[in-house]
Amino acid sequence: MNAIETRALTKRYKNVTAVDALDLTVREGCFFALLGVNGAGKTTTVRMLTGLTAPSAGDALILGRSVVHDALAAKALTAVSPQETAVAARLTVRENLELMCGLYGLPDRRRRAEELMAELSLTDRAGQTASTLSGGWQRRLSIAMALITRPRVLFLDEPTLGLDVLARRELWRVMEGLRGQVTLVLTTHYLEEAQTLADEIGIMAGGRLAARGTVDELCKLAGVAAFEDAFVKLAGGDGT
Ligand code: ATP
Repeated sequence: MNAIETRALTKRYKNVTAVDALDLTVREGCFFALLGVNGAGKTTTVRMLTGLTAPSAGDALILGRSVVHDALAAKALTAVSPQETAVAARLTVRENLELMCGLYGLPDRRRRAEELMAELSLTDRAGQTASTLSGGWQRRLSIAMALITRPRVLFLDEPTLGLDVLARRELWRVMEGLRGQVTLVLTTHYLEEAQTLADEIGIMAGGRLAARGTVDELCKLAGVAAFEDAFVKLAGGDGT
């Protein structure tokens, strides 16, 4: 089954078509990376797929549920770890997780918080105030919070933005650990990250899917050896 299937998915703002009749499928269990230069339409696509904004036209199915006709059911299957860290700065790691469990009305919030802390190696930091965590650990907490409702499709929006190399590698391990448990859609500007983690990569340009495939397939398609060169060519960054 496809985790995501968009059908001429479109979002228009006044003078801009941010997403232009996008047809994209992501199979269940896949680790998919969505790449593209600034303004290519990635964030708008993710916002439509997670119910944060309605499409202007077209549709998208999340595990068969339409974001247009069955919006609540579709939304319940997804979660986002957003670019801006969504943690409450003054609460501890445990309190942040329990708060989220409470917001979603989950019955056994203590236990769910414990489970997630164990899964993401946060247990040792359970009592630490979020504001005192490093950027990488805050991001890890943000991912734990996104997993609270056991989503089937998890969107990771630039999860390692601004992190140092070591923190980035640590988060890569976290993301690797999620592989297979949940369909993952990663947006990133770090090409190495997509190359390392993703089973498949989609490159957006001008609101459309310019190309998709494995790293090797994309290099072949672009007729170049290095993925960075392939990206520049396919994302339209070389002026073509
Ligand atoms: P980035 O890598 O910079 O995050 P992106 O690929 O995520 O870029 P989007 O943020 O989806 O791109 O933007 C696609 C286009 O839609 C851009 O031209 C942007 O200016 C425009 N856009 C996005 N949101 C809005 C909005 N709320 N109102 C008007 N235009 C918007």
